[in-house]
Amino acid sequence: MARSFNFHNYGLGLVTMTAKFTNTLKISRSGLKLFLDCPRCFWLDLYHKVKKPPGYPFTLSIAVDYLVKKEFDTYREQGKLPPVLEKHGIKDAKLFNGDELSEWRNNFKGISYFDEDLNAYLYGAVDDVLEFSDGSLGVIDYKSSGAKEIIIYDDYQKQMDVYNYILKQKGYETYPEAFFVFYKVIKEGETGFYNSLKFTEEVRPVKVNTEWVGPTFENAVELARSETPPASGTSGKNGHCDHCHFVELASQFKITPDLNI
Ligand code: SF4
Repeated sequence: MARSFNFHNYGLGLVTMTAKFTNTLKISRSGLKLFLDCPRCFWLDLYHKVKKPPGYPFTLSIAVDYLVKKEFDTYREQGKLPPVLEKHGIKDAKLFNGDELSEWRNNFKGISYFDEDLNAYLYGAVDDVLEFSDGSLGVIDYKSSGAKEIIIYDDYQKQMDVYNYILKQKGYETYPEAFFVFYKVIKEGETGFYNSLKFTEEVRPVKVNTEWVGPTFENAVELARSETPPASGTSGKNGHCDHCHFVELASQFKITPDLNI
């Protein structure tokens, strides 16, 4: 099936395509984010398997996610909604209890959709899922933060859009909203740490918009198979990226890793 692609939407300029449609690609939710943030870094990762150096792991947030999952699982077993969801006013739903959930939550498997025309997977791992009485599914994502205010970043929204797109492609009915459950550290009025953190909990729904996901996935797949490196572009501060900046400066002094400096 012939497809046309418009890379100019992403500021990539003209990109040379290869006929390599035989290799199956796997693009994660975060891979799609990288494609949007910096096509060059995405291309280095997918085409050359050169990965951007990872940041520090958010181990405190990961620990909170782990414990919230356990808490929600207890309510799931009891057939109850967690109080934070009830307080938000969700009534006609229960926590999804299908066999698929353990795979959907697994970071190494996750929920995935295979596009036969593109010969590519799009995948990501969800935190939890609500099942409404009409059978539609609403994605839940836990977020923990020490910030003063809750901010729903564009990336958070896109994360939900991608999960919902995958669910739809797999034939599931999806709820028009997705739900963030925020855990925000209470600092006001506290006199010290004393080996304990207290959190407020709050549900913030977002309207799901999956329209951009399919075309972006197609463009990302095409770029991943392109022989031509695209321009860089990052959504960091003023488009600045420390990694490429370092490489640029270091290369002036002809420092290469095998010099062991
Ligand atoms: S600018 Fe940053 S994100 Fe882009 S290719 Fe360089 S290291 Fe990767």
